[in-house]
Amino acid sequence: MTGSALVVGGGIAGLLAARRLHEQGWAVTLAEATSVLGGTVSSRFLDVPSASDSGTPKTQTLELDGGAESYAVRGAAMQALVDELGLDEHVVAPEPLGSWLHGPDGAHPAPRLGLVGIPGDLHAPDVAAALSPAGLERALEDERAPMDRWARALAEGTSVTVAELVSDRLGEEVLRRLVSPVVAGVHSADPAVVDVERVAPGLLRAAVDAGSLSAGVAALRGGVTPGAAVAGIDGGMAKVTGRLVTSLREAGVTVLRGVRVAALSRMGEDGRWWAQISDRDDEVVRGLDVDRVVLAVDGVTAWHLLAPLNQDVLDPAAGPQLGEGIALAVLVVEAPGLDDAPRGTGVLVSPGTGVRAKALTHATAKWAWLRTVVTRPGRDGVPRHPHRHMLRLSYGRQGGDADELGFRSTDEQLLAAALEDAAALTGVPLAEEDVLNSTVVRWRAPIPPQHGPDREAMDALVRWATDVPGLDLVGSWVHGTGLAAVVAGVERTVGRGAGLAAAD
Ligand SMILES: Cc1cc2nc3c(=O)[nH]c(=O)nc-3n(C[C@H](O)[C@H](O)[C@H](O)COP(=O)(O)OP(=O)(O)OC[C@H]3O[C@@H](n4cnc5c(N)ncnc54)[C@H](O)[C@@H]3O)c2cc1C
Repeated sequence: MTGSALVVGGGIAGLLAARRLHEQGWAVTLAEATSVLGGTVSSRFLDVPSASDSGTPKTQTLELDGGAESYAVRGAAMQALVDELGLDEHVVAPEPLGSWLHGPDGAHPAPRLGLVGIPGDLHAPDVAAALSPAGLERALEDERAPMDRWARALAEGTSVTVAELVSDRLGEEVLRRLVSPVVAGVHSADPAVVDVERVAPGLLRAAVDAGSLSAGVAALRGGVTPGAAVAGIDGGMAKVTGRLVTSLREAGVTVLRGVRVAALSRMGEDGRWWAQISDRDDEVVRGLDVDRVVLAVDGVTAWHLLAPLNQDVLDPAAGPQLGEGIALAVLVVEAPGLDDAPRGTGVLVSPGTGVRAKALTHATAKWAWLRTVVTRPGRDGVPRHPHRHMLRLSYGRQGGDADELGFRSTDEQLLAAALEDAAALTGVPLAEEDVLNSTVVRWRAPIPPQHGPDREAMDALVRWATDVPGLDLVGSWVHGTGLAAVVAGVERTVGRGAGLAAAD
């Protein structure tokens, strides 16, 4: 059956859902609350001074990824989408420089073969370099100790936290030095409360099957070249969402921006849906009557829209709360000391080090295409600005201290901290006069909760929605954070489904 469909949310999940529904013959309307389509896969712009070939001063506008800058190459769905959109020739690997970890014990290169910081080869020189001799000795017990306890947990379906598993198998030092910075920096979470299955799906099973945790990591990472677990797009990830938007418009799909779906109701048990649509000032501008709704918003918004429909199951007082949000500070600096990429592609930071950022990406070291744009070769091929670099620092840990910098901090606070943190993390002195321009990008609901009452509320909502006719839920709070998980989830839910579900 087909008919009319409303997709709520214009991030990658909503855009892809709209594309698939249109292909299946639905008359689709997509509504995005902000003026920017793409959600966390969208560009921002930053002007920097430059010069023409003849030396005339000019302004160069840099386009940068406002959120996601890469995608995990595991699984097939995201790569298949990139190919389908004709972007296969634009796929690029990050520079093979490796990344660093910054913890209470100092900075060291991150082991190349790893998963959420858990090393896959305990005999690799980079693992030995990152650990003390005693720490390495303890880690090697992983290769000898029986896996019975974890096989039992797997068989019984007991939830296992990252900290429990890593400290038991590899010791506290591996947890503190290698794993905590990754879980904190990438997943904004504490390993003591994060379920292994959420951040590394399949790892517990792989470890039990392989006989040790490190062998499990190696098995899961088997087909992937060490260090190249992600890919990017020449020109930025927003090319993916940009192509989706263009194709939707060309296909005649109604794509609305700056309109928020403020309320949903159902007309009869198996009936149609009615959506109340507001403008940015919350004035109701129109109602829409459709056969099917796909919610591609964050979990908190989904709860507010759906809880009124079944208050017995979805207690309005027990809904999930918005988390802390995060802020990205982007600096374009003139700094010869960064030319050799002293921290590779970037640094993940453990809590408690005095550095307030949770991660730094040396974007121009990581992506050759971006370095070319920023250093700007002239007609002679010689870079106009050889010492120019883009650094991206992220702020805001879930459950951080009250004075933690993040979403609610002012631009001034964030940019001042970013300059100090960038110097501390790279070891390169940086002063205000080295900064050519900077910007702050804020994300209100970037990382869905991975545990606790908010997670349970969202899981209850997903379970309830499964039985509601004409309703689908998609997005990172349903399928897991990251483009690979989100795209695979959309394909399973409304798209080209089943085959890919098995692969991901
Ligand atoms: C800073 C940052 C960096 C990241 N980096 C990476 C990375 O490098 N690699 C990776 O794989 N993943 C990364 N991610 C995660 C990845 O971007 C997300 O998992 C994914 O893009 C989520 O897509 P989505 O469509 O579910 O949600 P979103 O992109 O959040 O889109 C949801 C959309 O719904 C809209 N909306 C909300 N409420 C309403 C309403 N009532 N009516 C209409 N519209 C509404 C919002 O405005 C938004 O545009 C990053 C995320 C952030 C924040």
